[in-house]
Order: sequence, then structure tokens, then C-alpha cells
Amino acid sequence: MKANYDFVIIGGGIVGASTAWQLMQRHPDKQILLIEKEAEFANHQTGTTAV
Ligand SMILES: Cc1cc2nc3c(=O)[nH]c(=O)nc-3n(C[C@H](O)[C@H](O)[C@H](O)COP(=O)(O)OP(=O)(O)OC[C@H]3O[C@@H](n4cnc5c(N)ncnc54)[C@H](O)[C@@H]3O)c2cc1C
Repeated sequence: MKANYDFVIIGGGIVGASTAWQLMQRHPDKQILLIEKEAEFANHQTGTTAV
């Protein structure tokens, strides 16, 4: 992991993932980090475990 990022997003659910995707589209030259505390993305409300 690098030390410096332009954007850091905490939480890899649908909101975090879509925010990261939008930032990548708008700022392809920027460094973006998406942090997820679980072993996989979308493991809470966004995933199937909530239903
Ligand atoms: C039972 C249930 C049914 C639903 N049904 C529908 C539906 O039919 N249609 C619909 O549109 N919506 C539905 N929703 C709502 C929808 O699931 C949520 O609004 C949406 O998934 C929330 O996405 P989120 O990214 O905000 O949260 P989450 O999916 O919870 O993602 C947040 C992420 O952040 C991570 N995180 C939290 N704290 C930290 C931390 N300190 N460091 C790193 N990572 C962290 C979590 O591990 C998680 O992966 C439902 C919700 C529930 C509970």
C-alpha cells in the first residue's frame, strides 16, 4: 500500500464502491484507495447476508 492518495474511501459497500468508480471516471489521474474492514467487499447490507 502506498503512503499517499488523493481520495480515501472507507467502506466497500455499494456506496463506497460507486463513489470510487465515479471518482475514477472523473479523475483518472488521481490515486484512490478503497478501504474495507471485512475480508471481502459488499459483505454487509449491500451483500446477500442482510437478507
Ligand atoms: C434487510 C435489508 C434489505 C434491504 N433491501 C434493499 C432493497 O431491496 N433495495 C435497495 O435498494 N436497498 C435495500 N436495502 C438497503 C441497502 O442494502 C443499503 O442501503 C445499501 O446496501 C447500503 O450500502 P452502504 O454501502 O451504505 O452500506 P454497506 O453495504 O453496509 O457497506 C458499508 C461497508 O463499510 C464497511 N465498513 C464499515 N466500517 C468500516 C471501517 N471502520 N473501516 C473499513 N470498512 C468499514 C463495512 O464492512 C461494509 O462493507 C436493504 C437493507 C437491509 C438491511
